[in-house]
Amino acid sequence: MEKQSWAEPYKIKMVEPVFETTREQRQKAIKESGYNTFLLKSEDVYIDLLTDSGTSAMSDRQWAGMMLGDEAYAGSRNFFNLEDAIREFYGYRFVVPTHQGRGAEHILSQLLIDDGDIVPGNMYFTTTRLHQELAGGKFADIIVDEAHDPKITFPFKGNVDLTKLEKLIAEHGAEKIPYVCIATTVNMAGGQPISMKNLKELRELTNKHGIKIIHDMTRVAENAFMIQQLEAGYSDRSVKEIVKEICSYTDGATMSAKKDAMVNIGGFLAVNDEQLFDDARNLVVIYEGLHTYGGLAGRDMEAMAIGIAESVQDKHIAARVGQVQYLGRKLLDAGIPIVLPIGTHGVFIDAKQFLPHIPQEEFPAQQLAAEIYLEAGVRSMERGVVSAGRDQVTGKNHMPELELVRLTIPRRVYTQAHMDVIAEAVIRVYKRREEVQGLKMTYEPKYLRFFQARFQPIAPEPNDTTHENDETFASCTVGGADSGVGQL
Ligand SMILES: *Cc1c(COP(=O)(O)O)cnc(C)c1O
Repeated sequence: MEKQSWAEPYKIKMVEPVFETTREQRQKAIKESGYNTFLLKSEDVYIDLLTDSGTSAMSDRQWAGMMLGDEAYAGSRNFFNLEDAIREFYGYRFVVPTHQGRGAEHILSQLLIDDGDIVPGNMYFTTTRLHQELAGGKFADIIVDEAHDPKITFPFKGNVDLTKLEKLIAEHGAEKIPYVCIATTVNMAGGQPISMKNLKELRELTNKHGIKIIHDMTRVAENAFMIQQLEAGYSDRSVKEIVKEICSYTDGATMSAKKDAMVNIGGFLAVNDEQLFDDARNLVVIYEGLHTYGGLAGRDMEAMAIGIAESVQDKHIAARVGQVQYLGRKLLDAGIPIVLPIGTHGVFIDAKQFLPHIPQEEFPAQQLAAEIYLEAGVRSMERGVVSAGRDQVTGKNHMPELELVRLTIPRRVYTQAHMDVIAEAVIRVYKRREEVQGLKMTYEPKYLRFFQARFQPIAPEPNDTTHENDETFASCTVGGADSGVGQL
C-alpha cells in the first residue's frame, strides 16, 4: 500500500528559540548538578524531555482565555467555566480546583484514609503514594504482573489483577480499604493503559464490597485513545465518548491538568459524593485557597477549561501519541531496549538491558540519563531505584523491577526533526555503552529524593580533569527515609 503520512493538526504561530551547548559546557553542567537532571538549569538544556508536566504548548484559544481571567477572590466566572467543562467532558458532579495534582491528592488522602488503611492501586505514583502514606495508609500494588516486565507486549499493562485485590479484601476486610486508586495511563509502568473491560470488572468487584474507585485521571485522554485503537468494540467511538465512559465507572478523580489538559499549572479534585465534596471544599481553604480558586488565578482556570476540551479531540490525541510512537519505533529499529508496548507520553529506555554491566545499586538509569544529556543536551529523567525511594518501615531501598530512563514528550512543543535528533543521540550513547560506569549517591534528601539527590561517578571519566572538588560530595551523608517517590 502507498505510504500515507499524518501531520500535526496545527501550525505554529509563535516560536521560542532553543540553544545547543558544547560537550565541555555539558560536562561542567552535569557535574555541578550532581549527575541529577532535575538539578540542571534549563538554559543548559537543548531538548527538554524531563517531563510532560506543565511543559506543553497552549493553543491560541487557551492564550486568549488567559486574557479573560476574572480575578475575583470568590466566585470567579472562570471557576464556573471549569466546572462546566469537567461536568461535560468527564461527568463528575462536584469540583474543587487545586494548584496541581498533588494538591488534590493531599486533600483526598486526608479525607478518606485512616491510620492502618490499605490503598490498592495499579502501580504506585510518587506523590500519590507519599500522600497516602502521610495520611496513615499503606499502598498495595495490584497491577497485573506483565506491567513489571518491560519485554512483554501485552497491550493493557495498566490493568488491575482482580485476584490480587480479592486477596487484599479477604486478608484485611473491605472496611480497611477506603478506595482503589486507578491511574489512566500508568506513568510508572511506562505510560501503559488500562482496558475498559478490566475497569468494568473492577467496578463490579468494588461495588460488591462497597469500595470506592478514585481515578488518577492525569492522562485519561491518552488512555482513551489506546482503548479506541486496541480494544474490541471501541474503534468507532470518539476519544471524547471513551473518556466519559472511563470516568463513569469511578467515584471521583484527582487531576494534574499540567499533563492532558495542557496548562502550565493547575489541577482539581472532582467527586460525585456531596458530603465528600463539602469536606473537600472545607479542607481546601486551609492548604490551597478558597474553593472557587484553589491556588489558581482565574486565567489559569479558564485555560484549563479550554485545554480539557482540546485534549479529547481525536486528531489532537492521535498526533500526540503518534509522535511518541514515532520516536519509540526509531529507537526500536536501532535495537535500543525500551519498554514495550511504546507508552503514550514518553519512551522509556530499559537501563538494566542498556547497561547490563552496571548493578542496580550503582543507579544505571540515573547514569544513563546523565549520559544522554552529556551526548546531546537532551534532558530525560530516571524512573528506577532512585525514584522508588526507601521502605518507610525498614529504611531499605525499594528495588523496583523497572529501572528506566524516561524520554517524556511535551504536547505540541517539538517537531519530528527534534525526534530524529533525540533518537540519534540515544543511539550514539548505545554504541559506546560499555564505557559507561556507575554512580554513587552522595546526598539523599528525606522526601521524594529523586528531585534533589546528588551523585558522583564511581570511577573518574578518562579525560575528565574536573574532579578536584569531589570531597564536598563525598563527605555528604546518605540515609534519608524516603517513602517513595515522587512525581511528575
Ligand atoms: C504528575 C502526576 C501526578 C501529580 O501531579 P502534579 O500536578 O505534578 O502535582 C499524579 N499522578 C500522575 C500519574 C502524574 O503523572
